[in-house]
Amino acid sequence: MKHYSWDELLSLDLSPMMKQYLAIKNQYRDLILFYRLGDFYEMFFEDAYTASRELEITLTGRDCGLEEKAPMCGVPYHAVDSYIATLTSLGYKVGICEQMEDPRAAKGIVKREIIRIITPGTVTEQGVLDGSKNNFLCSAYLDGLGVSLVFADISTGETDILKNVDDGKSDGYENILSGFSKYQPKEVIVNSRIFNNKKFMEIIKQKFCSVVNLYEDSFYEFEAAIDKIKTKFSEKEIEDNNINSCVQSIYALYALLSYIEDTQKIDLKHMNSLECYEEKDFADIDIASRRSLELTETMRDKRKKGTLLWVIDSTKTSMGARLLRRYVDLPLKSAIAIDKRHAAVAELFSNTSVRNELRDILEGVYDIERLCSKIAYRSVNGKELISLKNSLKLVPDVKRLIKDFNSYLLREIDKECDSLEDLSSLVERAIREDCGQTITEGEIIKHGYNEQLDKYTDALTNGKKWLAEIEAKEKERTGIKNLRTGYNRVFGYYIEVTASNISLVPEDYIRKQTLTNAERYITPELKEIENTILSATEKRCGLEYQLFCEVRDVLFDNVIRIQKTAKALAKLDVFAALAETAYKNNYVRPTLNTEGKIIIKDGRHPVVEKTLSDGGFVANDTYLDKKDNSFAIITGPNMAGKSTYMRQVALICLMSQIGSFVPASMASLPVVDKIFTRVGASDDLAAGQSTFMVEMTEVSNILHNATADSLVILDEIGRGTSTFDGLSIAWAVVEYILSKIGSKTLFATHYHELSILENRLRGVRNYSIAVRKRGDDITFLRKITEGGCDDSFGIQVAKLAGVPSPVLKRAKDILKILESKETAVNDIDLKGKKILDYDAEGDDQVELDAIVGSDIIDELKAIDTSNMTPLEALTLLDDLSSRARISS
Ligand code: ATP
Repeated sequence: MKHYSWDELLSLDLSPMMKQYLAIKNQYRDLILFYRLGDFYEMFFEDAYTASRELEITLTGRDCGLEEKAPMCGVPYHAVDSYIATLTSLGYKVGICEQMEDPRAAKGIVKREIIRIITPGTVTEQGVLDGSKNNFLCSAYLDGLGVSLVFADISTGETDILKNVDDGKSDGYENILSGFSKYQPKEVIVNSRIFNNKKFMEIIKQKFCSVVNLYEDSFYEFEAAIDKIKTKFSEKEIEDNNINSCVQSIYALYALLSYIEDTQKIDLKHMNSLECYEEKDFADIDIASRRSLELTETMRDKRKKGTLLWVIDSTKTSMGARLLRRYVDLPLKSAIAIDKRHAAVAELFSNTSVRNELRDILEGVYDIERLCSKIAYRSVNGKELISLKNSLKLVPDVKRLIKDFNSYLLREIDKECDSLEDLSSLVERAIREDCGQTITEGEIIKHGYNEQLDKYTDALTNGKKWLAEIEAKEKERTGIKNLRTGYNRVFGYYIEVTASNISLVPEDYIRKQTLTNAERYITPELKEIENTILSATEKRCGLEYQLFCEVRDVLFDNVIRIQKTAKALAKLDVFAALAETAYKNNYVRPTLNTEGKIIIKDGRHPVVEKTLSDGGFVANDTYLDKKDNSFAIITGPNMAGKSTYMRQVALICLMSQIGSFVPASMASLPVVDKIFTRVGASDDLAAGQSTFMVEMTEVSNILHNATADSLVILDEIGRGTSTFDGLSIAWAVVEYILSKIGSKTLFATHYHELSILENRLRGVRNYSIAVRKRGDDITFLRKITEGGCDDSFGIQVAKLAGVPSPVLKRAKDILKILESKETAVNDIDLKGKKILDYDAEGDDQVELDAIVGSDIIDELKAIDTSNMTPLEALTLLDDLSSRARISS
């Protein structure tokens, strides 16, 4: 089949229906248009090629007035959700084009319109969304004075503004990245300043989402923006959140509301509350650090299992699960706010029976937030209203259980929880418990709710009784024992007689349908009853639908009240879950200190301890402060547990700041402003970065952004390049952090040479992870101890990993040779400045001369090293050593 260009298509003499299709599609060229034709949504031309490929559905053709058929593919209307899910997850936008009139009543072409555009950031379909995650659409506005980001989840009605007024340090792009890594939007709207930064756009598309929408500068008009915001949010909401003071927020919110209006085409009443934050409200964890700490997904297979969230998420509701994930993504920075969360968790922690009872109740609470969005979209069904009612009916029990709690947040939850009895009793009176999924086919409204409806129902019941009477009467009259009455959509009510009894059929029967083994008939009496029944059915369905819509509209008018309760229940679920996790896993409430100290007794890694058998994890202490113990250099063999130890410190700090208890027997923690972890080597080939480049980019990011209040975890810096290059970089990084930044830092390294820094730089402390060596075998003790370690045990670890013994043996031989040569060279270069003053005499002199060459030794002796910085000394040593190696 042919591919047509737009110009070609528009110039063709197509059938009227195809012309209508093209006229609609022409207005929305960037969408895949789902064009309703009877029971199917059809796609044509280029859309058909794309959809058939992506959805793996058959490409067919349709007459369109041309010689050749138009390429076409289609999906049944009742199964459309899963197809939309696939396309939006691949980054496509889908336009739903519906028939706007009854085709039977239409004159000419049925009127059609796009009723909704579904994009990755505006999906609300249950089957498409993960109940435990938010689905954020973001609008970002950047100008010369600052930047603001607005994140909205229209499936739950939440809207967060993240203001970043110009801090004079960054150009705004970093703020955008930082906001994106917190909220991980699925789709973004940007102004031209952001859009035109091609390099930045590439990063956004690679790291976050492929769908980026541009609103040109001419769109952003201040008055229009204010007017639009006022139509959606109350004066109080605008004032409380101080939106008027930030023009970037006004514009970002304006673009977001306009985009939602353009795509959703209905009033989303459930989206009218705002939360306004500033960058300073949350601890910052950049994307690389989030990934390496495995907070919500594992590095290897992007799954939840094996992450921090996997360990701590014992929430009972989807709302709670989403909120807890947000807490993990947005750790707090206000000590007061953190302490409030700790206090709420503590109360639930110590009241085990109340906690258990509460959690049992919460198990029965439905996803009310997403239900509110369904109410706003008018897509809610009867079953869901029953679930809403059942959830609301649990609220009084919740309130009874929490009424005696004293902590601030639990008191607040109690106040915000409203059982909304007016609404639940309305649903209870109106909606049948056993109603089905559909809302147009009756059997949804309860008997006794509406007098007129009851009359129709009675007529129907009688009708059915009449039918049964006719069946009995006709059996009697004709003597046909197996005669039966039935109904089908085409012929209506009928009397069915099997082939063997046809001779007994009376004359007044009118034949309507012939089956293989039977004939179907009607009689005037049956027709009369049919009319009565069908008109009652039609009227009943119509009235039931109308009554259902009335109930739904009452809920729509009260959607904000319902949301408030939903939010309170979500918070309660999170605190109860954190308490339960703490109880089960033996966590402790951390205290917060203002001296910037990290003091942890018997700290554990929350995830690694779960993967080991009971008691298998060895707990370790940590002490870091802002003075003499700010920088821990950790050495130890491979596999000893260095990375685990460092990450556990980062995770414990983070857990505290989301409001959780922590895996330790005691913890006194500061509030850290940022957490950086550079752990392990990885390529980012897609972004065109080699392993070493990734490592250096991450290091650079840390050195530019860490502050004295940050926690920095550095694992193996400089391993991706030559030894001296790497050691020099690592050395310089230690110096820089200590002298210029002052962050509390845990630094694991195989460069044992760095141990000498303990005596040279204030703040550095050496630690190592103990192992026991017996012959060629080592046992990991996993215990962190003071002091450095000189051995790497690489070959022993290779043995444990099953490397073939010939390789191990050869490696040992090579190591011996290298070590004997290195000993002499190392005499020069390994001990830094002290060795620069080396003055070999006697045997040492002879040995050194033999290996290094006397000319180099002489040259070394002639150099005055007293004023050299360690880095200069290292560079010099690098040069001398490589010459020494060549000559040896
Ligand atoms: P390398 O230098 O090779 O990167 P490492 O010293 O960083 O190794 P880790 O990756 O932290 O070592 O730990 C290796 C394994 O040791 C972990 O996967 C875990 O199973 C186990 N382990 C680490 N710490 C502990 C501990 N405290 N108690 C028990 N097992 C531990």
